[in-house]
Amino acid sequence: MTCKEAEQMIMPYINDELTDKELEAFLEHVCSCGSCYEELEIYYTIYAGLAQLDGENEGQDMRNLLQEALYISEQRVRGRKLFNVFYTFSQVLAMAALTVIIVTEILNL
Ligand SMILES: [Zn+2]
Repeated sequence: MTCKEAEQMIMPYINDELTDKELEAFLEHVCSCGSCYEELEIYYTIYAGLAQLDGENEGQDMRNLLQEALYISEQRVRGRKLFNVFYTFSQVLAMAALTVIIVTEILNL
């Protein structure tokens, strides 16, 4: 992902509009690119600051809020990956079970 692409994803990220794939690529870039992280921090601080005016997140440090948000996003990406692994595994297991049943049936003929 380029910095330009990452910058375009900042607002969708804050609005929670990224797909899991986009989110993963975005997090990867932001965590390894200082200038994009700074950019995100600025946007996030503004956004979180506005939310604070509404009474949300009262008394919380802005930096911590972004760290927390990034952590939650990472957990989401990781959780989705884990789910995919589990899903694939259960599919393979189901196929194996089916194969065993079919083979047993054939052997019993
Ligand atoms: Zn960048």
